[in-house]
Amino acid sequence: MSTSQRYRLRNPSSGREIVTEAKPNEIYVDHDSGEELEVVGKLLPLAPSASRLPWAVENLRVCPWCSQLAQKDLNDCPTCGRRMGPLGA
Ligand SMILES: [Zn+2]
Repeated sequence: MSTSQRYRLRNPSSGREIVTEAKPNEIYVDHDSGEELEVVGKLLPLAPSASRLPWAVENLRVCPWCSQLAQKDLNDCPTCGRRMGPLGA
């Protein structure tokens, strides 16, 4: 079980991104340029999770329209393009 949340951090000037287990109130800097990185998003799956794989089966759901697997964080099915509705509905 992984309990630490991973984040995408971006260097605003270069656009370079890294994924790391960032902690609150800590400053992260680009190793090459020394510039401060900004948090641009949490990485799925959200902590705590048994999986560190963004596309692990527990992070997918079945599209109600075409019955294909789709990532839970998407609103529209990547296979048929239709809106899948809220999670758990
Ligand atoms: Zn679909």
